[in-house]
Amino acid sequence: MAKIDFSSRRRILIAGGGFGGLACMRRLSELLPSSGYDICLLNSSPYHALKFRFHERVALTCPREHVRASLKLLAFASRARFIRDDLLAADFERKFLAGKKGEYPYDILVLALGAGAEFHSIKGVEEHSLNAYSLDGVERCARAVAGLLCYKNGEISRVVVCGGGLTGVEVAAQLRVKAGARRLEITIVEAGERLVPFESFPSERERVIRYLKRARINSVTNDPVAEAGESSLRLASGKKIEADLIIWCGGTRRAPLRGAGEGAFPVNGFLQSEEHPEVFSTGDFASVEEGDRFSNLLSAQRAIYQGKLAAENIARKESGEVLGEASYRPSGEVTALGDFDGVGELKGFVVTGITAAALKRAIGVKYLIELYSGLPLAAVRALAYPFRQT
Ligand SMILES: Cc1cc2nc3c(=O)[nH]c(=O)nc-3n(C[C@H](O)[C@H](O)[C@H](O)COP(=O)(O)OP(=O)(O)OC[C@H]3O[C@@H](n4cnc5c(N)ncnc54)[C@H](O)[C@@H]3O)c2cc1C
Repeated sequence: MAKIDFSSRRRILIAGGGFGGLACMRRLSELLPSSGYDICLLNSSPYHALKFRFHERVALTCPREHVRASLKLLAFASRARFIRDDLLAADFERKFLAGKKGEYPYDILVLALGAGAEFHSIKGVEEHSLNAYSLDGVERCARAVAGLLCYKNGEISRVVVCGGGLTGVEVAAQLRVKAGARRLEITIVEAGERLVPFESFPSERERVIRYLKRARINSVTNDPVAEAGESSLRLASGKKIEADLIIWCGGTRRAPLRGAGEGAFPVNGFLQSEEHPEVFSTGDFASVEEGDRFSNLLSAQRAIYQGKLAAENIARKESGEVLGEASYRPSGEVTALGDFDGVGELKGFVVTGITAAALKRAIGVKYLIELYSGLPLAAVRALAYPFRQT
């Protein structure tokens, strides 16, 4: 296998061009002199995925370009290099990552590979469902939805969304924006007792349930999927649900990487591996040991926070300073219910309706500005995004 060496400068590898990896790359470029460091971003796809808009793409209510951004451009803006490769394994002893195209030695490594769909080993689910957790998955969903709406012209199509968490509810609600109840029959199947497990504000859940009823979206709770077939699902209770399309929103698991163990990658409060102090990890890939309950909430907010902190700690480590400890506090969470409705909380206040929908978009713009600033064209595009719908 080809060994790809970068230069005589200190090599910093960032594995994963999601929110955590990009925030880390950007902050590193601000903190470290490019003369002494070679920063390289590795990602399997050439694009950064704007996951908080995936529900819109699944339902074909936004173009593909609005859910992705070129990693080559983003790396260029941070004076970093981008290499597209599918990473397969990590060797922490010999300090390199192995991908399909080559091996990548490092002095400092940031693991930010995120998470993909978790199918819980349920029979048939991986083969017979599409999922809303990756750019590829979302594009496949979008094509399938387009197919249902084009080819079954006049007939009603049945979409089953498996998973009644925030992702599943957003996807189902957005599908209803795209097609009325005469075109699409939408059912959410949830294994747990309740849809949308909001911890602090039960009133929000009630609002979601009222919205789903109004939008004529069916829901089945407390009945896990037992098996998926080509055109139907069997639930644990024995109930069978016919489906032209099954969209899996049933949870995530850390991206696989041989040599990096199973489950979320453990790091200390400095986001650093205890065993290999030159290895840092952020976002959905990482698990902060001894952190409080907020430390491991999977969100873009948390990934960006951790990406920046990892970069700051790398700079501190390089100059022999004391590292800073993570103390992440989420500012809130907002769920879209179609284009003009939503629920959530921000800094302890409940937000609903069009305010919540607008807030969701404003938060999206904030992420984009944080990640894109320094890249004027992309920043302008980011600012234009709330106003451009198809
Ligand atoms: C549908 C959906 C909606 C969401 N909505 C919101 C929201 O509204 N607000 C919010 O805060 N959070 C939201 N989230 C959660 C948020 O998107 C994630 O927590 C966040 O993306 C995590 O960032 P990350 O950098 O850890 O990983 P990711 O953003 O997943 O990035 C990981 C990157 O690593 C790459 N990668 C993975 N494996 C490999 C490999 N083997 N080789 C090379 N590259 C690889 C991937 O291609 C990807 O680019 C949503 C998630 C989903 C799925």
